[in-house]
Amino acid sequence: MNEIAHVGAAGETRPLLYVVATPIGNLADITLRALDVLKRVDVIAAEDTRVTTHLLRHYGIATRLLALHEHNERHAAQKLIDLLAAGKSVALVSDAGTPAISDPGALAVAAVRDAGYPVVALPGANAALCALAAAGSAAPHFLFFGFLPQQAAARRRELESLKALPYLLVFYEAPHRVDESIADMAGVFGAGRGVVIARELTKMFESIHRCTLGEAAAWFAADANRMRGEFVLLVDAAEPADTANDEAAVRTLEILLRELPLKQAVQLAVEISGGARNTLYRRALELKKSGALPDAE
Ligand code: SAM
Repeated sequence: MNEIAHVGAAGETRPLLYVVATPIGNLADITLRALDVLKRVDVIAAEDTRVTTHLLRHYGIATRLLALHEHNERHAAQKLIDLLAAGKSVALVSDAGTPAISDPGALAVAAVRDAGYPVVALPGANAALCALAAAGSAAPHFLFFGFLPQQAAARRRELESLKALPYLLVFYEAPHRVDESIADMAGVFGAGRGVVIARELTKMFESIHRCTLGEAAAWFAADANRMRGEFVLLVDAAEPADTANDEAAVRTLEILLRELPLKQAVQLAVEISGGARNTLYRRALELKKSGALPDAE
């Protein structure tokens, strides 16, 4: 066994499974520690050995590879356990980014832990965190969803369940479905909700575009290249209370508008209902315009 005492827990000399993050595009996005581990372990379990061979060649690493992907993960996990039992150390990588994040790996990690062997994760590239870091969103919380269902009805059902959550939503999407998914998001969340389209992160044609869900189709249509590549979508959180649909908040607003000037009515409605000012203000203007209310100003 190549002993890698310094990369595990302090003083660690037992065989370990290392879960190693690899680049999501730019081959330079790999840590020194990851390269050291990949060089020194006995075997690397890889999602696609051809993809990992490309990375290893780039860094002059010749470690033996073993395939571990979604179709053989259980069987391959047992192979990892056998290797660990024989005193070998093993690294686990996926094609890109952090294993087990919308990628195979979790099942193997659980099996190795259950078999009593330690697992050490080496942090590194991850598309969701890369997009979040570049987007400049002030949202304090986010929900990582990963891939939506491919089938339209199931996808819309899933979106309905996410619609009112007060968290920035993080999705992975394939290029051939990104327009459909965004159209469904606009239908379910409303065309006015903001989205950041993070494309080809760390690569030559990286782009980060912010618009509303309703505007995204036109942005894609303006340049066919914008549909190419890999995507992370960051969708703004639902407003604190979706007051447009909150009957109590709107009722309060209506009563206040009968007696008070618009701005004051909106201010009080916000304080009473806890609803979003923009939404209530918009609603107040609509009510005024419709002529449904007497003019209090
Ligand atoms: N495990 C990976 C990670 O840590 O991000 C994710 C693997 S998942 C199978 C692949 C998806 O991640 C792509 O379909 C895309 O949504 C996103 N992704 C991966 N690389 C990306 C990149 N360079 N730019 C934008 N999105 C990327």
